Amino acid sequence: MSERETILRVENLCVEFKTRAGTARVLDGVDLTLTQGETLGIVGESGCGKSMTALSIMRLVPTPPGRIVAGTINLRGEDLLKASDQRMRELRGDRISMIFQEPMTSLNPVFTIGAQIAEAVRLHKPISGAEAAAKAVEMLRVVRIPDAEQRVHDYPHQLSGGMRQRVMIAMALVCQPDVLIADEPTTALDVTVQAQIFDLLSDLKQRNGTSIILITHNIGAIAEMADRVAVMYAGRKVEEGTVASVLSNPQHPYTRGLIACVPHLDDGDAEMDTDLAEIPGMVPSILKLGMGCAFAPRCKHAMDRCRVEQPAVTSVTDTHRVRCFLHQGAPS
Ligand code: SF4
Repeated sequence: MSERETILRVENLCVEFKTRAGTARVLDGVDLTLTQGETLGIVGESGCGKSMTALSIMRLVPTPPGRIVAGTINLRGEDLLKASDQRMRELRGDRISMIFQEPMTSLNPVFTIGAQIAEAVRLHKPISGAEAAAKAVEMLRVVRIPDAEQRVHDYPHQLSGGMRQRVMIAMALVCQPDVLIADEPTTALDVTVQAQIFDLLSDLKQRNGTSIILITHNIGAIAEMADRVAVMYAGRKVEEGTVASVLSNPQHPYTRGLIACVPHLDDGDAEMDTDLAEIPGMVPSILKLGMGCAFAPRCKHAMDRCRVEQPAVTSVTDTHRVRCFLHQGAPS
């Protein structure tokens, strides 16, 4: 496992946004690695920095008002933060692809899905129109759309939400990228279709060896799909480790709260753990973060030290790290 090639390495990523109320540091020192064929889950509530991390990796942070102010993003030895805009256009969709929560925002309503998949491949590969059209049918089969030869002529509005997400996956994978970023890919879909999409992604990962970053607030999906998980809060990574270790032995109070929010399935009935079913309070405004741990206002373990000092990252095991004073001995 540890011998696998590192495909993507993000170090000390910092992103700021200028607002009327001041400059907000929406990502602060984020480090991530992704190895060949690995699925890394990124979890956290809305506004914790998950999607901003993805947009930064794609170099799609809206600038202005946003700006990547520090860090490196290294894809197979190439620093994406030093790449030209032209180079990024070459890499996006070819070596690194992204699928979003709502496929209709990415699909063009006036072109057939076949034309859009064919265009995605022709942007990056020197193949003929006929070859690209055949590739579109093949990809629809790969993502398990029935009657692919017929459906390739459909327009996006003729498909269900689940089918449209399959088309997006087909477009994202048509060039066999090294990295697929899936940002809340099933949130708009019903539960049965969600399970089918996760099943499809797992299958494609096994088949192609694609590395996946799965961004979600769905801990169940992380348990099913991911090898490792990073938990984000207020623009920082607060816990990271193998899924087995983090989910069975969560160390950060925020991670424990997230896990406690997951319904437990007993004898087929979904049953909420009412003891810790909610994390009190809300994600703080990034503009109003104080000196100390950003989670302190919501943390029942908060100590005086937590309100004035930033906890450093400490190791729980070789593969599990946490940013919390509870794991750093007594206050000095
Ligand atoms: Fe809670 Fe303090 Fe740990 Fe932050 S550092 S999560 S406030 S115990």
